[in-house]
Amino acid sequence: MLGALRSIVQEVNVAPDLNSVLHIIVARVKTAMTTEVCSVYLRNSMREFVLMATDGLNQSAVGQVVLALNEGLVGSVAAREEPLNLEDAESHPKFQYFPETGEERYRSFLGVPIIHQRQVLGVLVVQQREKRKFDEGEEAFLITMSAQLAAVIAHAEATGALRGIGQKAEARFLGVPGASGVSIGRCVVSSPLADLNSVPHTMCMAVEEELAFFQDCLSEVRKDVRRLASELENRLNKEERILFDAYIGMLDDTSLGKEVTERISSGFGAAYAWSEVILEHVKTFSSMSDPYLRERASDVRDLGSRVLAYLQEATHHDRVYPDNTILVGEDLSASVLADVPQGRLKAIVSTRGSSNSHIAILARSMGIPTVMGAVDLPFTRLDGRELIVDGYRGTVYIDPSDSLKARYQEILDDDVKLNEELESLKDLPSETQDHHRVALWVNTGLVADAMISIGRGAEGVGLYRTEIPFMLRDRFPSEEEQRQTYREQLKAFAPHPVTMRTLDIGGDKSLPYFPIEEDNPFLGWRGIRVTLDHPEIFLSQVRAMLKASEGLNNLRIMLPMVSNISELEIAQMLLYRAYDELREEGHDIEMPPLGVMIEVPAAVFQTQEFASRVDFLSVGSNDLTQYLLAVDRNNPRVADLYHSLHPAVLRALVYVVQESHRQGVPVSICGELAGDPAAALLLMAMGFDVLSMSASNLLKVKSVIRSVTMRQAEELLAEVMSLPDAESINRCIDVAFRQTGLSRIARPHSEIKLDH
Ligand code: PEP
Ligand code: MG
Repeated sequence: MLGALRSIVQEVNVAPDLNSVLHIIVARVKTAMTTEVCSVYLRNSMREFVLMATDGLNQSAVGQVVLALNEGLVGSVAAREEPLNLEDAESHPKFQYFPETGEERYRSFLGVPIIHQRQVLGVLVVQQREKRKFDEGEEAFLITMSAQLAAVIAHAEATGALRGIGQKAEARFLGVPGASGVSIGRCVVSSPLADLNSVPHTMCMAVEEELAFFQDCLSEVRKDVRRLASELENRLNKEERILFDAYIGMLDDTSLGKEVTERISSGFGAAYAWSEVILEHVKTFSSMSDPYLRERASDVRDLGSRVLAYLQEATHHDRVYPDNTILVGEDLSASVLADVPQGRLKAIVSTRGSSNSHIAILARSMGIPTVMGAVDLPFTRLDGRELIVDGYRGTVYIDPSDSLKARYQEILDDDVKLNEELESLKDLPSETQDHHRVALWVNTGLVADAMISIGRGAEGVGLYRTEIPFMLRDRFPSEEEQRQTYREQLKAFAPHPVTMRTLDIGGDKSLPYFPIEEDNPFLGWRGIRVTLDHPEIFLSQVRAMLKASEGLNNLRIMLPMVSNISELEIAQMLLYRAYDELREEGHDIEMPPLGVMIEVPAAVFQTQEFASRVDFLSVGSNDLTQYLLAVDRNNPRVADLYHSLHPAVLRALVYVVQESHRQGVPVSICGELAGDPAAALLLMAMGFDVLSMSASNLLKVKSVIRSVTMRQAEELLAEVMSLPDAESINRCIDVAFRQTGLSRIARPHSEIKLDH
């Protein structure tokens, strides 16, 4: 059955639309399970289950048989969200007879729910005339089938919904909130060069020119392939030489080239037409049962990417970004954001990642509303379409109606008003009504951050993410280039302290010129682990930092992802070496304070040992939360398990503050938690000396701190610490904030219902 399962899934994957998917499923499952009927019921917008395809029942019943949730056997499978396996269906109390299906002839019934992201999308049913108890293996087969199909159906439905837009209400897609705020704007699809899966769906204006352009690109690739073949001539065996000839053959006017030319002639853009044709062929090859032919899929893909690179290169640099650009893509990076001219980027949507992915953190620091993990969004078809991005709720609307736009415009206006009100706090101290002061610092990385932060009255930088300037380049920056970048930061904030973190790459942060590919990147080669394995990178970075601090003396250095004392000791040794060398070279520098980030559970339990060896500690709550809860911060599937206010996280934070203070060492927090106004109160009550956050949250946090007494914050903390789970903790905070009228700042617009 595994073979049957695999080949059904392969067939489904190459099906052009939802209807074909359903027809393949019913026909092939019926055969694989040697039954007489297989049907699929899908949920409609009224939450009823409609017979959408069948092999065995009367075709005239398709679209006609409709069951409410919990109605009949199908409705019952949907309501209970579990399989129903009946030898004699008629004797079940939920059995209902639908004459149009001819169903009375079938006695046995096995139905399984089709579930995607906890939502029941439909029910997959097999039936048989005689009494038959489907065995456990058969039940397991149908469950496996339905689990595999759920994502395909969800995606096909989403794409289908999109086609209907225009006449109907806007299509809404769910993701995860990435950065708060809302935006109305035009979609610009960001597609990495030569990535066949993310080419935007575009039409061409001048067919003849597009055809000529396509032919030019093909001849460039032909030349490349020939050049490569002649360079490798002596090293290739006969089989490999044939492959090169096959490549050139594929580009022929009678082969792939012909199919693409036809599509361009009917008005499609060359890059889009090419990627569609290539992907279709890749799918066809991948679904072949012969292993040799299946392997050829990667050759077609490789050739496809080569041609695509030429097709995109010419247009890549003159991309047009409208004034209200909403950047949408699969895996956006810092450099893609930097490509959008200043002031035009109004929102970001990523189909991957989650709220603590680094792109979301960057978006928050820039104050750009963002939705992450919108997995079902058919983003390649959205270029140029109007969108609403709701970063509070994590929703995206395509082609919104005027009434929805008007409601979102109100939210936008409200936000502008609130920000204007908050502006007045920028020069006021961050202290409670009973004069308890807590330092509010900022997290930076981009040059723009520094300017925004100073404008908001930041008193220091608690985390300067040095990897961001590294990410914006196409090679490692030299020591001198780094010195200049760091000097700018230090100068901008002097005399306030700037905490520079040594290069923290790995996980979801990779450098284009230093790729790290691992099965388990968040548990792999990250942060200090990389730089200690490459002391030359570490040394040139700290030398650049030290040189940059000459005469300013406001530098602090911080080490990421430390999980062993020995890592700290080696880093300290390297730092001293750099310092001594620079002094010998005649630089008049001071040794900066050194700190360690507490962001893995091992470091929490060694707080005391770390504190006794450094000048300060800083909690990286983003990573600490993911490692304590074993929830990947970058994975939208588990986003609702990533609870920053989980009791285990809160207890770890309290412990770190107590242990650090016991050693007389100050402790700050620079994870995103510090920028949540409600959480900030709890952190202040725990005793954190510094809260470091995205500049866009600074005034909100200050406003909340200035509205309460330390006593109130401590009482709230005490109450929260006695609660068993994140849900009750969040509820408790919501109630407290509503009572004090602070919800407008801490949880804006949370009470407005917009969803249909
Ligand atoms: C953290 O992990 O909380 C942190 C501040 O570092 P980053 O988000 O850059 O991993
Ligand atoms: Mg971290």
